[in-house]
Amino acid sequence: MINIVLFGKPGAGKGTQAEFLKEKYNLTHLSTGDIFRYNIKNNTELGQLAKTFMDKGDLVPDEVTIQMLQSEVDKNPQSAGFLFDGFPRTLAQASALDNFLEAKKQSITATVALEADDNILVARLLERGKTSGRPDDQDEEKIRNRYDEYNQKTAPLMDYYKAQGKFHSVDGIGTIAEVTERLTNVFDKL
Ligand code: AMP
Repeated sequence: MINIVLFGKPGAGKGTQAEFLKEKYNLTHLSTGDIFRYNIKNNTELGQLAKTFMDKGDLVPDEVTIQMLQSEVDKNPQSAGFLFDGFPRTLAQASALDNFLEAKKQSITATVALEADDNILVARLLERGKTSGRPDDQDEEKIRNRYDEYNQKTAPLMDYYKAQGKFHSVDGIGTIAEVTERLTNVFDKL
């Protein structure tokens, strides 16, 4: 069983690459952002709560996010492995995930980061916002706030995974196919 954390700033291409990687490596793709958006669309209690944070570009509180992620993992007991996309985003989430997996006699195999320059990513997100319908992609201030959240709360996870010898990174700039090839080169050596 392999469990991979796909890591990267908003707009780095995690979702796009996950679509391909989940098929190639037979992984269950869990995107916390997608799960929150699904809940918002269906107007669930979780969705209503998450929306108040997401619309501002703030992270949803750890307690809520961790509980949701764990219940999604538990819904897939037959899975050959997970591709975590957009989770963990804080040290509390990373350590909760490690403890949760350990209790199942599993662990994170590797973290693979898609690296890209902020200015390129902001431009990408604003472009995506024209068609994605996502309020958090349409306003540069909200986008910048998402980067502040990333730099403050998520970036420290790189050291967390480096300390475990599990951190890999690839250049996220290039065509979709070029980035996919870089990622598969890393995955194939795991
Ligand atoms: P994403 O689709 O990954 O860019 O996530 C969109 C938004 O969902 C983020 O800006 C957060 O508000 C929320 N979100 C997604 N994943 C998490 C997480 N692991 N922890 C906290 N908030 C999250």
